[in-house]
Amino acid sequence: MKCQNPRGIDSKLRLAAQMDPLLLLLAAYCPAIFGGAVLGGRLSVLGTLTHTRTQVIMSLVAGFILGIALYHLLPHGLELIPGPEKIEQGMLWTALGIIFMVGLLRIFQFHQHDFSGEAQAMHEQQGHSHAAIGARSVAGIALGLAIHTITEGIALGASVQGSAQPTAVGALPGLGVFLAILLHKPLDAYSILSIMRSTGYGRRTCNLVNVGFALLCPIVALGTFWLGMQLAPAWGGELAGYALCFAAGAFLCVALSDVLPEIHFHSHDRFKLICAFLVGISLAYALHFVETGLMHEGH
Ligand SMILES: [Zn+2]
Ligand SMILES: [Zn+2]
Repeated sequence: MKCQNPRGIDSKLRLAAQMDPLLLLLAAYCPAIFGGAVLGGRLSVLGTLTHTRTQVIMSLVAGFILGIALYHLLPHGLELIPGPEKIEQGMLWTALGIIFMVGLLRIFQFHQHDFSGEAQAMHEQQGHSHAAIGARSVAGIALGLAIHTITEGIALGASVQGSAQPTAVGALPGLGVFLAILLHKPLDAYSILSIMRSTGYGRRTCNLVNVGFALLCPIVALGTFWLGMQLAPAWGGELAGYALCFAAGAFLCVALSDVLPEIHFHSHDRFKLICAFLVGISLAYALHFVETGLMHEGH
């Protein structure tokens, strides 16, 4: 990498040199997400957490994801969309992201993370228990989670690729989105593996699904990054902008769907749960400064 062509680097090479750190950064994010997801899936062997603990974790992660959508994805997306109607365009894609995720949640009902006794009892009251989940609905849940994971991979790839312009020294583009996925993916993996175990799938199948599921986000993120790079000369950052606004809508919806049911149906531990939610949002807000490298003044 260090040996330079004495005849001068053409623009393509210069572009590649500029991209490399971004690709390296993404390449560092990916194994961490894979590891986190595998670990989350493995934890399902240990049994379920208590209801309150699950809700505290979910509130914290949901707050963080909400903050990432509002402080990272949406502003970055709007920045990349050109033209005087960028706000309208950006909001249209955000709305599409919300509609897409609401539809996905409606059809597949895949985003249930709480497997404690209390949550089970509540489900049984509503007429569906995990014991009654058949092979068909396991496949539906897996498909829903897979599509959900693909949108996260696109968000990560686009947020790293979308910052292809020179960034401040010390900036870590996509860090917020990466951390949101890193925190959230284990919950998803835990869900699908818990459901699979409770419906009697063998260890081999569970392990295979766990690894396949954990690989999905990194593969989609790298693919999105690559595709973004191919399309960048013709489109500029426009596509990444739309993708980020869409992801913002999807992330908003996922975050709220993780906290609102608890608010509707339970009133215990209110202070604890609100605090966890606020800590999550605050962390996402604080991260903004790390991501843009504002700590290095004067850039
Ligand atoms: Zn999820
Ligand atoms: Zn509760």
